[in-house]
Amino acid sequence: MFEPVIGLEVHLALRTTSKLFCGCSAEGFGARPNENVCPVCLGLPGALPVVNERAVELALRFAVALGCEVPNTTYFHRKHYFYPDAPKNYQTSQGDVPIGRHGQVALPSGKRVGITRCHLEEDAGRLVHPAYADHSLVDLNRAGAPLVEMVTEPDIRSAEEAREFLAEIRAIAQALDVSDAAPEEGKMRADVNVSVRLPGEPFGTKVEVKNLNSFKSVAAALGFEAKRQAQLLEGGRRVVQETRGWNEGGQRTYSLRSKETAADYRYLRDPDIPAVAIPDERKRAVLAAMPELPQARLGRYLADGVRGTEAAQIAYDHAVARLFDATVAAYTGPAQNVANWLTGEVAGRVNALGVSAADTKLTPAALARLVELVDGGSLSATAAKDLVPDLLEGADPAELVASRGLGQVSDVAALEALVAKAVEANPELVERVRANPKAINALLGKVMAASQGKANPDLARRLLEERLGG
Ligand code: ADP
Ligand code: ZN
Ligand code: MG
Repeated sequence: MFEPVIGLEVHLALRTTSKLFCGCSAEGFGARPNENVCPVCLGLPGALPVVNERAVELALRFAVALGCEVPNTTYFHRKHYFYPDAPKNYQTSQGDVPIGRHGQVALPSGKRVGITRCHLEEDAGRLVHPAYADHSLVDLNRAGAPLVEMVTEPDIRSAEEAREFLAEIRAIAQALDVSDAAPEEGKMRADVNVSVRLPGEPFGTKVEVKNLNSFKSVAAALGFEAKRQAQLLEGGRRVVQETRGWNEGGQRTYSLRSKETAADYRYLRDPDIPAVAIPDERKRAVLAAMPELPQARLGRYLADGVRGTEAAQIAYDHAVARLFDATVAAYTGPAQNVANWLTGEVAGRVNALGVSAADTKLTPAALARLVELVDGGSLSATAAKDLVPDLLEGADPAELVASRGLGQVSDVAALEALVAKAVEANPELVERVRANPKAINALLGKVMAASQGKANPDLARRLLEERLGG
C-alpha cells in the first residue's frame, strides 16, 4: 500500500492597516476596484518602497512562535514572473535569508512537523472575468498587501494530519494577532505538495496543488492526488513533477503547468530595499511578550476539568477562548458548565446567524449570570435557552427573568399544590403510573404545563413520586 508524503506551503494575510511597502490600505474590503493603489504598489518607475515595520514585527512573532532561528539581518528579494495580476513583473519576497528557518510545530497528537522556513512577501492583485466583457479586468487593491508564508518539511503523512496542522497554524496566528487566518476570506491559503511511496522507500516525485482556500479542499485534494498517483504507479507508469489546480466542482486536480524551479524566478536581492536588522534584544522582547498559545490553553482547560471535546473546540477558536476565559472569571461554578453553554446553545445560535460569538453583544458577565441562574435552579434550562438570542443582543439575563416572570418555581408548597391538582384531575394517568412507573413523565408533563413551564422539573418529579408512593 502506498502512503502519501506531504509538505505544505501556507500563506497568511498579515493584520496590518497598510501594505508591505507603501501607505495604501491593506484592507480591500468595501473598497472599489483599484482604489487602494499608488505608484509603489503599481510598480511605476522611480517609486521607492519603504518596509512596513508592523509587518516585520508580526512575521517575527510568527517565526519565533514556530521555533524558527531568526537571523540578525534579513533581506528582500525580487522573484520574477509575468502574470497580469503582478504589476511589477516580479513579486517582492524573501530569498536566501528569510526571517525564520528550521522551526518545528508539535501537534496535539504528538506529531512533529518541521518548518523549513517562513518569510514575508507581498500579495498579488486579482483578475476578474465579468460576463459582460470579452476581456479580463484586473483589481490591484490586494497587490502589495503583506503576507507571511511558511513552508513545512515533507513530514505530513495523511490528509487528517494536514488538517490538524492547518488548525494549529490558524490558532497560533490568531493568538499572536498576526492574522485573522480566515480561509473563507482568502486570509489563509495553502498549496500542498504530495507524493506517494511504499513505506520505507525513498520519497517519490511530488506534485504541487496550488491555491486551496478551505481545510476541506486541502483534505479532498490530498485524497484525490494520493489515489491518482498510486494508480499511476500501480499501472507501471510515472508521476510527472508539475503544478496542478483544484477543481472544486469536480473534486479533482488538473494539470496547470510543469513546475518552475528557483532558477526560473531569477531571485535577485532587491536593490531598493535596505537590509532589515533584527538585533538579539528584539528577539528576546518578542519571546518575552509571547501570549498563551492554543496548546497551552488547551492544557489549562483540561486541568480546569473541562472535557476534551469542548476544551479543544474553545481553545482553538481565539475569539471564543477569550470570551470563555472572561466568563469563567466572572462565574462561580465549574468551568465545564460555561463550556457546555458556549459550545452548545450559544454556538448553535451564532452559527445560525453566520457570525462569531465575539461579533455579538454577548458579555462575559451576562453569560456567567445565565449559567448561574440555571445552576442555582431558579431558571430552567429550557427557559434559559430561549434567552440566548436576547443575550446576543446585549440583554441582561436577570432583568429578562424579572421582566418576563421566568423565575423557575422551586417553592415546595406551591409545587405540592400543582402536583395535588394534577393527580386529582388525571386518575387514569395515576393508574398507568401504578402499573408502570415510567409513565410518571406524562403526569410530570401535566404539572409542567400547569406551571407554564416554570416548575423546577427535578423537584416536581420528586414531589410526584412521594405523593404517588405514599
Ligand atoms: P521546490 O523546489 O519544488 O519548490 P521544495 O524543496 O522547495 O521544492 O519543497 C516545496 C514543498 O514540497 C515543501 O513543503 C516540501 O516539504 C515539499 N516536498 C519536497 N519534496 C517532497 C516530496 N518528495 N513529496 C512531498 N512533498 C515534498
Ligand atoms: Zn500603494
Ligand atoms: Mg519552493
